Amino acid sequence: MDRRQLLTAFVGGLCGGFALPRRSAAQQNAILSLSDRLSLVTSGRTNVLALATADGLVLVDSGAPELSDRLMESLRQLSTSGRAQTLFNTHWHPENTGANEMLRRGGAAIVAHENTRLWMSTPVWVPADDRYRPPRPKDAHPTQTFRVDGSMNAGGERIDYGYLIEAHTSSDIYVFFRASNVLAVGDVASPSRDPELDYFTGAWLGGRVDAMTRLLALCDASTRVVPGYGPVMTRAELQAERDIMKTLYDRAVDRIRQGDDADDMLKAGMMNGLPRTWKDPRKFLYDVNKGLWAHHNKLNPNVV
Ligand SMILES: [Zn+2]
Repeated sequence: MDRRQLLTAFVGGLCGGFALPRRSAAQQNAILSLSDRLSLVTSGRTNVLALATADGLVLVDSGAPELSDRLMESLRQLSTSGRAQTLFNTHWHPENTGANEMLRRGGAAIVAHENTRLWMSTPVWVPADDRYRPPRPKDAHPTQTFRVDGSMNAGGERIDYGYLIEAHTSSDIYVFFRASNVLAVGDVASPSRDPELDYFTGAWLGGRVDAMTRLLALCDASTRVVPGYGPVMTRAELQAERDIMKTLYDRAVDRIRQGDDADDMLKAGMMNGLPRTWKDPRKFLYDVNKGLWAHHNKLNPNVV
């Protein structure tokens, strides 16, 4: 406890009887135990999975950039040094890779798809902000990349990982902790926020459906699925989200072949009658539209 925390605890004690200092309570809430070794840390806002091993932590993702210090505090609660031996990046987005530099400087190897390294190495156009996002510093880049899949052993776990083609970006991977039966899927599942198709870095709805189908094949009824953001999911919840995506895909392919844009699709009721609602359905349909046009050669051929 540093001086500020001690003072907070002291003032909290004076004002609030035996109430815990707010800071400590927030830290405790930020760690959800999934097994005796595997924890879900949410103090970086986006989900970070942490496997404790004798050689340091194995992490999946590293939180939002502005919350790196809070994340590191949480990691020190899981292992005294807070040191990570390996960090997987599920994709290139900054809000999931924010503490990459810090963890790398602490000695972590960063494992990711080769496209994650490429997207981090180059300016990326951000259509919503009408600007380029600059490349990430070299320290943030993955140090070990792959194109198809791979496997490693750590802390008594076999950890399998593999590519999920064009599901949310063109750099998505899953990381599967076999003994714990916990499957990290990054933003390829999105139980609480609108599913995002980052078409500018390669996502499209068909890729998302295929990737979710592949994830379902890895799961059994007791698998815990950890998305990039939001609560842990069951296989049944993943199946339900995949089925919505497939319904939307089928509807969108018909509409796009009629020449519809996002507003036409919205007016035609493409988002109606689904078992979930969207905060911004028009943005989602705009991204669906862009992604489908990028894959127009794969849409149901209608050869006369
Ligand atoms: Zn993302």
